[in-house]
Amino acid sequence: MILQRSIQDIVSVTGVGLHSGCRVKLTLKPALVDKGITFVRTDLPNQPAIKCHPFLVNDTRLSTTLVDDQNVRVGTVEHILSAFACYGIDNIIVELSAAEIPIMDGSSNSFLYLLNQANIIEQSKKKKYIKILKPLEVVDDDKYIKIAPYDGFKIKLSLSYSHPLFENGNSEYEIDFANSSYITEISRARTFAFMYEIENIRKNGLGLGGNLNNAVVLDDDTVINPGGLRFSNEFVRHKILDAIGDFYVSGHQIIGSIDGFKSGHAINNKLLRKILNTPDAWEYVTFDNEEQVPSCFTYVA
Ligand SMILES: [Zn+2]
Repeated sequence: MILQRSIQDIVSVTGVGLHSGCRVKLTLKPALVDKGITFVRTDLPNQPAIKCHPFLVNDTRLSTTLVDDQNVRVGTVEHILSAFACYGIDNIIVELSAAEIPIMDGSSNSFLYLLNQANIIEQSKKKKYIKILKPLEVVDDDKYIKIAPYDGFKIKLSLSYSHPLFENGNSEYEIDFANSSYITEISRARTFAFMYEIENIRKNGLGLGGNLNNAVVLDDDTVINPGGLRFSNEFVRHKILDAIGDFYVSGHQIIGSIDGFKSGHAINNKLLRKILNTPDAWEYVTFDNEEQVPSCFTYVA
């Protein structure tokens, strides 16, 4: 049977928040079955916990931020959630000494490494997946994100930037995780920003921890990072990494296909809320044996 997953050991890492610029210590701890993903702010009085839940996403300016009714915030959750989705982590406690997940190198690769250090374990209850039964979409001006039934998990995203590095097919990417690996194809793709945006981003108090070690920065012609790109289409791969994290705010892997155009954190969360608010469009499913589960979800722990 396919069982819920957590970690066996406590692991920590220290980094900086991309938007706050604050140093932050992140600690991953095991959690019991059916407890889901919980963030704990150890820097605040009484160390409040905030549950990872789609209806607590309250700020989607350049990242995905959870805010509860006590105004406890946890920012930039999408990359670590994307890593949790990769390994199908159901139950985990994420302790933070500040209000934002550290950005590490701008990708989710460091979080995969951390999870491996913590030893992923299977627990005693069946794992629940969200199976999409009917197509749903959110359209916002010229942007859209759609989800549809599919016996597996695949994502196709398209971007629209008039920039030389987005030409030659580098604006669009489709990945079916039945035959491609998140770890090799997606996890190393980094956050990116355009030079002309950065001054404005910082005026709004965001991007304060950003530098060339944790973000790809584009000028009018190319990237200014000395090491260049990790993939010619690293940007759209990163948007896929983000989308996987944004949908994993649900705490469950999705059995379905996603198709987006100019999609981002705000519209991703709108679609996730729409799914949860449309009871006949999805159901929770569990699997009694490995042969029944779509092959993209059979990770080696
Ligand atoms: Zn991102």
